[in-house]
Amino acid sequence: MNILIASSEVAPFSKTGGLADVCGSLPIALGKLAQRSMVITPAYRSLMKAGLATRPLNVQLEVPIGGKVVRGGLLEGRLPGSDVPIFFVDQPDYFDRRELYRENGEDYRDNCERFVFFSRAVMEAIRELELPVDVVHCNDWQTGLIPALLRIEYGHAHGFEGMVSLLTIHNMAYQGNFWHWDMLLTGLDWKYFNWRQMEFYGSLNLLKTGIVFSDAITTVSPQYAEEIQHPPTGCGLEGVLQQRRADLFGIINGVDYDVWNPAIDSHLPLRYDVGNWREGKAACRAALAAELGLPLNEHAPLIGLVGRLADQKGWDLVATVMRRWVQDIGVQWVILGTGEPVYHQLLHTLAKEHPQRVAVRLEFSDRLAHWIEAASDAFLMPSRFEPCGLNQLYSLRYGTVPIVRATGGLADTITDSTEENLAAGTANGFSFNAYDAGALEDALRRACNTYAFRPDVWARIVETGMRQDWSWTHSAQQYTDIYHMLRTRKRASGR
Ligand code: ADP
Repeated sequence: MNILIASSEVAPFSKTGGLADVCGSLPIALGKLAQRSMVITPAYRSLMKAGLATRPLNVQLEVPIGGKVVRGGLLEGRLPGSDVPIFFVDQPDYFDRRELYRENGEDYRDNCERFVFFSRAVMEAIRELELPVDVVHCNDWQTGLIPALLRIEYGHAHGFEGMVSLLTIHNMAYQGNFWHWDMLLTGLDWKYFNWRQMEFYGSLNLLKTGIVFSDAITTVSPQYAEEIQHPPTGCGLEGVLQQRRADLFGIINGVDYDVWNPAIDSHLPLRYDVGNWREGKAACRAALAAELGLPLNEHAPLIGLVGRLADQKGWDLVATVMRRWVQDIGVQWVILGTGEPVYHQLLHTLAKEHPQRVAVRLEFSDRLAHWIEAASDAFLMPSRFEPCGLNQLYSLRYGTVPIVRATGGLADTITDSTEENLAAGTANGFSFNAYDAGALEDALRRACNTYAFRPDVWARIVETGMRQDWSWTHSAQQYTDIYHMLRTRKRASGR
């Protein structure tokens, strides 16, 4: 089968979050299951800067946007370490910018236009290059228009007849909501601007558009697939998702163990695996402490956090607990993130006031993200909601015990270290339920006590996590099953 994955982010070319990791690694995993996959994404400045091997294709895309025609080009490359083709839509006015979606805390004003253009460019690229596509696999609101374009405009055109669309939702909180006049940019008839299709309380909603028009929808964990059918996690689209629940599936993201694996991780000062994790982690910790200027204190557990500084990730709980704990409890914290200015300020202040206990880097650094995963003893993810979460899965492989709130993908992947789960050999972390600083503190205390007073139990939790397999093998098979199901259904319906 031929799958075209359309995404606004693909690692290692462009990344703001887990979406990029998924779109960079799922296509390769599909290849291992004998599916032919291709990827299409914008040519951002980050691609140009990386100096990756791409070749310009001899096509010009002509894309109607509102009343004008916008031209774009195409570059072709390969996903690193594979022969998966990746096409980059080149349109410097839209994509040659410092960031992907926003700068200085403000979204680019023309985001709707940029991604309407990208969605239409995907369809035109298929047509111009005569790409054989059975399934166009869209991701998040940035490509939410594609299923509508396929259903309304392209479905009967030559080369598109048998095509089906799948939309994967990586985060319901980002919906691509724009003022109603942006409907003109889409080029679709106003009749689709109604509350059952593209409209959401007077605005154009591109995620809703994708949910309504795609042949099926997936999201990135079974638990999140359930939660988004209800408020507040559905973020207002719970009703639309309930309508489509027969076509809504949850598939956990896989980890790319060629990238996230302490046994081969070139970022680490010492590589390690389940056989020598104590030495490996101690060496990484010493190096990280030196790099960040954090005094080495081998008796205090090191707690790591890496992620977007957004409300979703539970930073308000972290801040409350840290303020209490930095005074006298013997743990150290290392934090890497960028995002909301209010959290930048708060973390900056904590680090300045408690340099013995807290090291903070407010930047995006792949290298530090790997180091922190390796050097920390525990990894904190007290998310308010979490569609899948990748960092807890990376933590497991790096022997770093996740402490998580049991929501979405965190609930599906982390088994709390209760006595019962420990006896069953399934415990791989610590979790808590209520979104509340007290509940987080209890889980943190349980973890710290286990670390300090039951080192053999701690080692068992570490090793259980390190041995687990969260690779793409299983999840890519689930995607393949859905692609097949959609194709069979399409053939049967004769549409
Ligand atoms: P989300 O997609 O909601 O941001 P995930 O846990 O699914 O959360 O994925 C986050 C990804 O982004 C991980 O690969 C994580 O390491 C990476 N990441 C987030 N913030 C940073 C940062 N400041 N520096 C480096 N990597 C980061």
